[in-house]
Amino acid sequence: MQGSRYKPVMSMPPKADSRLGRCPVCGKPETPAHKPFCSQICRDRDLISWLDERYRVPVHPDEEPPAED
Ligand SMILES: [Zn+2]
Repeated sequence: MQGSRYKPVMSMPPKADSRLGRCPVCGKPETPAHKPFCSQICRDRDLISWLDERYRVPVHPDEEPPAED
């Protein structure tokens, strides 16, 4: 019987630590404390940009500013 001798050797068993990704803001490795960001700074930056996009709602083109004349 051959085949049982050759087990596929996995390079590394998947561990929780290997799931560490990268900060979506700056690209640095993320830290467990601020997942998925690397720091509180990037966390805030991402939140700010996210809020900024939400606030940037399309302006109603119908509403013309009152003419100050
Ligand atoms: Zn970062």
